[in-house]
Amino acid sequence: MTVSECYQCCRCTNGCPVASDMEIVPHRVMGYILKGEREKVLSSTSPWRCLQCATCSIRCPNGIDIAHVFEILRRLAIESGLAAKGGTWCFDDLIIKSVARHGRLSELEAVTRYRLSNREFLKDAAMGIDMLKRGRIGLTSHNVRGRKTLGAIIREIRERTGT
Ligand code: SF4
Ligand code: SF4
Repeated sequence: MTVSECYQCCRCTNGCPVASDMEIVPHRVMGYILKGEREKVLSSTSPWRCLQCATCSIRCPNGIDIAHVFEILRRLAIESGLAAKGGTWCFDDLIIKSVARHGRLSELEAVTRYRLSNREFLKDAAMGIDMLKRGRIGLTSHNVRGRKTLGAIIREIRERTGT
């Protein structure tokens, strides 16, 4: 079923675990698409808040795969250059790049780069120090064996999918 079958029953939004954190909730996302107002959706943070849990898709009485629609919206947001600046997509990007570099995620590196890109130098600093003290994150990045192969695979996938 396509988005055009949506009759705005709200079941997707009612079941979405992160709807309250979304700038535009799922059924409204569908509504804007139906009205041809894609830019509103693409420039919002909503596509990046989606957890891809597919609860909405299961609940939709019309069988619309809303989770897949959100996935497509992410791709379109990047391709069109409308992706919300400094949004979750930047963080996603930094995490993937960190994994490509080290073979595993360097949390400190990803968070530091994210905060620097947003010019929020000291945000979360206290929490970061606390996590360092508890040994939850390390000061250095550990490289994993086979990281070059993994990095090449990730780059290939990103090139092919345009993400
Ligand atoms: S559950 Fe399906 S029909 Fe209902 S609002 Fe969401 S997308 Fe539209
Ligand atoms: S797939 Fe995304 S939009 Fe659908 S219920 Fe899960 S988080 Fe919400």
